[in-house]
Amino acid sequence: KAKATGGSSFASYDPRMLAGLVERLELEADLRLALERDELRVHYQPTIDMTDSSIVGFEALVRWQHPTRGMISPLDFIPIAEATGLIVPLGRWVLTEACRQAVEWAERDNRRPIKMAVNVSVRQFDRSDLATVVREVLTETGMPADRLCLEMTESVLMTDTEENLAQLVRLKALGVTLAIDDFGTGYSSLAYLRRFPVDMLKIDRSFIERLGEQTDDTALASTIVQLGQSLGMTTVAEGIEEYGQLAALREMGCTFAQGFYFSRPVAAGEAGRLLPLPLAADAPVA
Ligand code: C2E
Ligand code: MG
Ligand code: MG
Ligand code: MG
Repeated sequence: KAKATGGSSFASYDPRMLAGLVERLELEADLRLALERDELRVHYQPTIDMTDSSIVGFEALVRWQHPTRGMISPLDFIPIAEATGLIVPLGRWVLTEACRQAVEWAERDNRRPIKMAVNVSVRQFDRSDLATVVREVLTETGMPADRLCLEMTESVLMTDTEENLAQLVRLKALGVTLAIDDFGTGYSSLAYLRRFPVDMLKIDRSFIERLGEQTDDTALASTIVQLGQSLGMTTVAEGIEEYGQLAALREMGCTFAQGFYFSRPVAAGEAGRLLPLPLAADAPVA
């Protein structure tokens, strides 16, 4: 990093920094156009009921089909969207698309109604009109509120302000489910967790990854499941890749499962085809 101290600042100049900055500026400019150019896609990853391995819902995960760079991961463009404020229109677009898709699936014959989970960034949460936006999207798409789940990271809970509480209460009042994503990686306090109207904890993938190998992570995952149970919340294990992890989490009493073991996030067409399948117990679905 170049130091901001007089003449020495050029001494540590690194051309890769400029290349990185230019690339970021280019991506930022492209992202502004991505929405208009219809380059964003939503992929869907199933959520599985631990008890019978049936699909109970999907998580909507955004992708960017860039005209020259190909498919870009949300890990690479969500931070840019957050820094520029583009996350607000982008987030609304994902929410609308995911709800529209859920309604389309529900309208087909013989489908069990499923839940749709959508990620909400702190930047969206910090805007006082979030509940209004969610209500508008539910109305526009005809999505029943009780089929929508909003996932927020712990950073929302870390700052225990009256405004944050009021925001959560407004969202909850709509009838949607509220989940804490990547739970265990942040610093949310138990007191706030009890105070906030949260329904679901999603255990971060980092704990699932090392299940069995490191006794600490097994104990932590189990503690989160029990914490959820004592607070009347359901728990979701994200990032299940192997049968052993599934078995361990089921043993712990975890409610739902998600992960490559069942299915990667897939395009809407493929996700829709997973729906009517009465899943055989523990069988990978894709
Ligand atoms: P997340 O919400 O925690 O989503 C889970 C991520 O883990 C997804 O990555 C998913 O593809 C991945 N994953 C699921 N199962 C497995 C597994 O078994 N193994 C491994 N290695 N990975 C697994 P993805 O789609 O790249 O999304 C990354 C993050 O980007 C998301 O983490 C979320 O924080 C953010 N994101 C994605 N879509 C949106 C969106 O529409 N809005 C906002 N604000 N953030 C989003
Ligand atoms: Mg999520
Ligand atoms: Mg997560
Ligand atoms: Mg995660």
